[in-house]
Amino acid sequence: MRTPPLKESNDAATVSWAVGDITVHRIDEIPLPPATGPWLLPDATPDVVTRQNWLRPHFADDRGVLRIDSHGFAFSVGGLRVLVDTGIGNGKTRANPAWHDLRTDYLARLSGAGFSPESVDLVVLTHLHTDHVGWNTREEQGAWVPTFPRARYVASRVEREFWAGYDMDEPRRQMFRDSVHPVEDAGLLDLVDVPAEGAEVAPGLRLLPTPGHTPGHIAVQLSSHGETALITGDCVHHPVQFAHPAIGSCVDIDPEQAEATRRSLFDALAGTDTLVLGTHFPPPTAGRVVGHEDGHRLIPVPPVHGLPRAGQGVR
Ligand SMILES: [Zn+2]
Repeated sequence: MRTPPLKESNDAATVSWAVGDITVHRIDEIPLPPATGPWLLPDATPDVVTRQNWLRPHFADDRGVLRIDSHGFAFSVGGLRVLVDTGIGNGKTRANPAWHDLRTDYLARLSGAGFSPESVDLVVLTHLHTDHVGWNTREEQGAWVPTFPRARYVASRVEREFWAGYDMDEPRRQMFRDSVHPVEDAGLLDLVDVPAEGAEVAPGLRLLPTPGHTPGHIAVQLSSHGETALITGDCVHHPVQFAHPAIGSCVDIDPEQAEATRRSLFDALAGTDTLVLGTHFPPPTAGRVVGHEDGHRLIPVPPVHGLPRAGQGVR
């Protein structure tokens, strides 16, 4: 049944997909500016992008400029109320001007989807990059405090240990100070070992190792009543990579491993009913992977409610 067209709305509470009896809500933060694509995926040139007709209009514009968003996903599974990735956050001092000192209504959107901060049980962090940990904390009387005070925050042990031994520049140290350390200091961060076959953290919720972008990067697999979904994190940044898995991001720690991860992931997903939910994919954000030419493509799956925002004038 098609829901009647809603008037163009930013109400993220209306955007969700069904995976068995799990309802996966997309919690919008912001669309990232058009300069993001050429910076993040420099090999996805306008030439390469415009040759993939299926990317338009949702995932790229007519000039071959990639659309890239920041959002998280919230759902209930196995009796737990879960948020996957926490975006850029508000009021953070960041080197990237598109991420600096944001004032979005992300928390209101999250609450509007039925997930008040106090109600969240589990926060899964696909990796410890600035645009995935920002709402871990919020400012309260000049201090950064955990946004989700009752939640366990989960990251892979490999990921946390990698950054502990990494010679971080000042912007990254700043990010750890305001968005990771407060959660650790509050005793809320759980480090999980994620073997090759994955780690089940709740019934129907499995973390899968997808290394390369970062060493401990995890994707999140959801299963319910024979249906499956995969939340990518940043093992895939943009659907153009389904066609060109060799296109990596400028911030992949191990580009060769990142490409190998994409290739094996796409081969495993191709032709299956798994709903792929991209952490940076613009609306419609989700789709199924099929073979296409000598690679793959994404067949978009629109959300159950709400309208894709393609054509919105903010990009
Ligand atoms: Zn990211």
